[in-house]
Amino acid sequence: MTTVTLVPGDGIGPEVSAATRRAVDALGGIEWDVQEAGVVAIEKFGDPLPKHVLDSIRTTGVALKGPVTTPVGSGFRSVNVALRRELDLFASVRPCRLYEGVPSAFDDVDLVVVRENTEDLYEGIEFEVGSRELAKLRGYLKYMHGYALAPDSGVSVKPLSVSATTAIVTYAFEYARRHRRRKVTLGHKANIMKFSDGVWLQTGEELATRYRDVGFEATQVDELAMWLAWAPDEHDVIVLPNLYGDIISDLAAGLVGGLGVAPGMNLGRDYAVFEPTHGSAPDIAGRNLANPIAMMLSAAAMLRHIGRAADGDRLERAVASVLASGEVRTADLRPHGSPAGTSDVADAVVAAIEDAP
Ligand code: NAD
Repeated sequence: MTTVTLVPGDGIGPEVSAATRRAVDALGGIEWDVQEAGVVAIEKFGDPLPKHVLDSIRTTGVALKGPVTTPVGSGFRSVNVALRRELDLFASVRPCRLYEGVPSAFDDVDLVVVRENTEDLYEGIEFEVGSRELAKLRGYLKYMHGYALAPDSGVSVKPLSVSATTAIVTYAFEYARRHRRRKVTLGHKANIMKFSDGVWLQTGEELATRYRDVGFEATQVDELAMWLAWAPDEHDVIVLPNLYGDIISDLAAGLVGGLGVAPGMNLGRDYAVFEPTHGSAPDIAGRNLANPIAMMLSAAAMLRHIGRAADGDRLERAVASVLASGEVRTADLRPHGSPAGTSDVADAVVAAIEDAP
């Protein structure tokens, strides 16, 4: 038995987690340490990310996590940002593969978006419009650089470091090598942001010279977005700083059937947290409407990560067979007949696991 921390999350989290847990339990071998985070934890413990959740992940080394709501303007920190920071989960990896039977404008998509998870505009260095701190910053910018910042601006700072870039780009190349991928594309906007994206581009180009067995190209991120919408099979592994990675990975999820089928993982040197790309979807929460497949595919990646590759493959094959048959589909996958519920998908995946040992 391997113990894995399970954070069901909130919104649709508990539903997709329960469905996924049933599928993983059908394979056997996993013991769950269930931990609450998000809105449920605020109600119970007054903290959306109580210390015992982190303690559990530090003990097990690995978590399967449902989505967690970030309450807007409540003063609570984002659980997702805090988790990534506390556990130094510097790499977000989002495979976007088109499965047979999933409606898409394309026939063949198999991309992996590798996103830097710790810095960039998401680092949280922010200056509120009208604040004393911002007034000081305006004074400094005027005095040191002659730059007149409009008095009604808000400011977010974008740091990109050589060390974080080295870690993520190295990870992307190693991933490409390990999975026999043909090319790494590095997205940037170094022509505009010379001192932040400039660091990213230059560091990436230097590292690429050490991986001559893997193809490499650097592309401006706006051009990359156009190419992905036009010819996604031109790309393979895509490495991006935090903000571009957030946007482009959702775009890539849209190429392969949407958020309901897009898995994800957050990886660090010591810990790993596997979670779907989607959020807590409050619009459909508690109604047995959510597609659990993104979370099931995240669980398949988790099983491979902990050395249970055969179980991970078996789970992915079961999910793929349910998608290919097209008989049990939640509403987001545009079913021909009446849409299936979250629990129907769990039933079908468990049956497929039991049918194909
Ligand atoms: P969302 O991903 O929750 O929802 C976007 C749209 O996709 C909605 O229409 C929703 O119904 C649909 N959708 C999402 N997942 C689905 C699924 N499994 N099956 C069917 N339809 C699905 O994005 P949002 O509305 O921008 O965010 C809601 C909350 O989730 C916010 O508080 C946000 O901060 C949080 N969030 C959390 C995570 C995370 O925990 N990793 C990620 C993204 C957003």
